[in-house]
Amino acid sequence: MTQQAAGREATGAKINPWHVAQEQFDLAADRLDLDPSIRRVLRRPRRELTVSVPVRMDDGDTQVFEGYRVHHNITRGPAKGGIRYHPDVTLDEVRALAMWMTWKCAVVGIPFGGAKGGVVVDPSRLSRHEIEGLTRRYTTEISVLLGPDSDIPAPDVNTNAQTMAWIMDTYSMHVGHTVPAVVTGKPVHLGGSLGRREATGHGVTFTLQAAADALGVKLEGMRAVIQGYGNVGSHFALSAQPLGIKVIAVGDAGGAVMSEGGIDAAQAADWVQRNGSIVGFPGTRPIDPGELLELECDVLVPAALENVITGANAGRIRARIVAEGANGPTTPEADRILQSKGVFMLPDILANAGGVTVSYFEWVQDLNRDFWDHEVVVAKLRTIMFRSFDEVWAMSQREKVDMRTAAYLLAVDRVAQATAERGIYP
Ligand code: NAD
Repeated sequence: MTQQAAGREATGAKINPWHVAQEQFDLAADRLDLDPSIRRVLRRPRRELTVSVPVRMDDGDTQVFEGYRVHHNITRGPAKGGIRYHPDVTLDEVRALAMWMTWKCAVVGIPFGGAKGGVVVDPSRLSRHEIEGLTRRYTTEISVLLGPDSDIPAPDVNTNAQTMAWIMDTYSMHVGHTVPAVVTGKPVHLGGSLGRREATGHGVTFTLQAAADALGVKLEGMRAVIQGYGNVGSHFALSAQPLGIKVIAVGDAGGAVMSEGGIDAAQAADWVQRNGSIVGFPGTRPIDPGELLELECDVLVPAALENVITGANAGRIRARIVAEGANGPTTPEADRILQSKGVFMLPDILANAGGVTVSYFEWVQDLNRDFWDHEVVVAKLRTIMFRSFDEVWAMSQREKVDMRTAAYLLAVDRVAQATAERGIYP
């Protein structure tokens, strides 16, 4: 970590995810002794677009929201990455998320580059009609980048299958014919893939299973703590519970709750669906959201936003395994602290890659107009998650490094090789 970055963590000032992403890349580039030219190329985004998104609000007023779409790298295939609606979105956050997508696609060996998009908006303050307007206009503004061979968005924080349907429809209206392959995470009857909605959380569970095998520990009876009970957090819980993993605490933007006896995954998901937050879930008691991450447990699953495990709280984390459902939840300083405490990390670019993996399956199905059974999707996802875990594990054993460093070594090397083979144009 640079002294500047360390200073920011120590003082508790807001940590910039783009600086974190670049620092993680630098660590891998140093270790790989990466060619300096390739390093300069990979350290920066390929292209970025900032757009103004005017929306006619329900009261007749027009509001303008700022949005971004960033392509970090497209050397290995079309740009792939989700779209986030959140009031704290910044260009630097989107840059970081785009870079992480590049490495994630490379870790699991799927032929995509890395992208991300975001709009600075609190969608809970907008009506459905206003969100649709925002989505359609944002899509139009970034449409110079979009296309099934160039840039394929997917859901992220506060966006979902409905958002993807609007993006697909807007893009299709522009080109005059229906193009399902321009987005993934769509509703199944519009060309979405079975298993996509659950894929990220399910993938976290697969990597946890693979980790338990490698570490020689039993999953049954493990106690899990989850931060974020949206798409990723809830589907992690739903897939982990049948393996005997007990969820003892859950937190979200509304607060946090705990129950030593266990929180039923499906009933909790239903509660959140109806009430907007886990808070008040019957049989639980409220706890301080800051305390959530510090509870003693076997596995901690951050599945909300980035920079939640920092130099300030890492020393108090009492989990044996941290499985990163969220992107970028752990800062480099926290990583070092957790490693020194012997916490086993399942890094985001490996652990949450199930989503983009099934997005890849969806894209392939759309392009071929040939749709697969749910069991086929899950079996293929399982194969890729276990294989990717094994490759990262083997690298970590060979190089005697932690799992994040190992994942970065694999990913950066793959993208660097592809860059070297293609050469620098012209
Ligand atoms: P989501 O919108 O479905 O859920 C987000 C959850 O985080 C909600 O429960 C929300 O209440 C909670 N949250 C928001 N702000 C919070 C705060 N300040 N404190 C505590 N909780 C807070 O989003 P998602 O799709 O589940 O994404 C969650 C994370 O997983 C993000 O980091 C995202 O980038 C990452 N991710 C998502 C996918 C995917 O397929 N959706 C794939 C890979 C990674």
